[in-house]
Amino acid sequence: MKEQQWQDITALLAEIKLKSPFYASKYSSIDLTDIRDLKDFQSLPLTDKDELRDAYPLGLAAMPPTDIVRIHSSSGTTGTPVIIPYTAQDIADWAVMFKRCYEFAGCTRADRIQITPGYGLWTAGIGFQAGAELLGAMAIPMGPGNTDKQLQMMIDLGSTVLCSTSSYALLLAEEIAERGLLEHIKLRRALIGSERWGSKMRARIAGELGVKLFDIYGLTEIYGPGIGINCQYQAAMHCWDDFIYCEIVNPNSGEVVTDGQSGELVITTPRKQGAPLIRYRTHDLTRIVSGDCPCGSTHTRIEALLGRSDDMVKVKGVNIFPAHIEEALAVTDGASSEYQVMIDHLNGRDIMTVFFETGAAKELRPDIETALRRTIKNKLNFSVIAKAVEIGDLPRSEKKTRRIFDNRY
Ligand code: ZN
Repeated sequence: MKEQQWQDITALLAEIKLKSPFYASKYSSIDLTDIRDLKDFQSLPLTDKDELRDAYPLGLAAMPPTDIVRIHSSSGTTGTPVIIPYTAQDIADWAVMFKRCYEFAGCTRADRIQITPGYGLWTAGIGFQAGAELLGAMAIPMGPGNTDKQLQMMIDLGSTVLCSTSSYALLLAEEIAERGLLEHIKLRRALIGSERWGSKMRARIAGELGVKLFDIYGLTEIYGPGIGINCQYQAAMHCWDDFIYCEIVNPNSGEVVTDGQSGELVITTPRKQGAPLIRYRTHDLTRIVSGDCPCGSTHTRIEALLGRSDDMVKVKGVNIFPAHIEEALAVTDGASSEYQVMIDHLNGRDIMTVFFETGAAKELRPDIETALRRTIKNKLNFSVIAKAVEIGDLPRSEKKTRRIFDNRY
């Protein structure tokens, strides 16, 4: 932890119970003046999303309602949504972070930035836009969907930067190729929301669109997207550690792991006013990369996401993440990037089927299936069924594409 971070966290802890009814209740049995060093801090109970849901609608607010200028909400697919209140300072801070992301990706005020993530309660679209405007670039606030119009604007306005999910970037790349539009496209860079995606998908998007790709990280509970991005050296993502403090914990025990080990990313927001969070579980699995980055930035680096702890499935005693399948596809000649995993329980056994897309001729497919099956067997030490399907057969989505379907329960 950096000296300034500790000062900011100490200041947060000094007033959090006075300002936030949520933390006054959560930490009611803890005397926060006892938290004197990093070790003490690491003993504070983690904050999880379920607790944030229980605070619906405005129970997370740590400022009077008159100081709240906006709310955002994270997706309510699993029930009650989480509402995050923002002050004017929070909104300004978020834009500063997002502007940095664009700068790290080499964007300037000369760029024309086409924004395809959604607007509204979701944080995505408006975050990309605020950062683009603060940079002084031209924001093109498309929002999601309507591929015809996206391509029309991309051509007519000469968009140079695409902001999107990886699934939608792939869909656009495929449409551009199919319609023979590449010579009219001026894209140079794409900023891709931080869902987990494999190297083959990355190579296809970069190749077909002719762009440099950057992973942008964030989540609604912690400002939104834009709290981190990878630099030109691509290796890992820098997280803006003047605004957020990152820890990695064991997802099962909640204990902080030793330096460099993988686990679940936990974030504290010392400077957030509207809804500061202390030791918030992101459920994103990664590790902190130590050492100096060749780019010269000293902002904390995290490795590209391995997956989400809630994406993990256990089959025959082995923990399986989407990343495992992507790594196997990456080394299988003839297999393309898109895949879907089905896990079923038949005749007392767990059966995992991996559907993957291929452009190879029908007679070559059995060999590709065998190669993928062998790779996965070597990697995970159990047998799967590998099934080749036509390119475009598996679903594309404008948001995050679901990859693993567990039909056992
Ligand atoms: Zn760097």
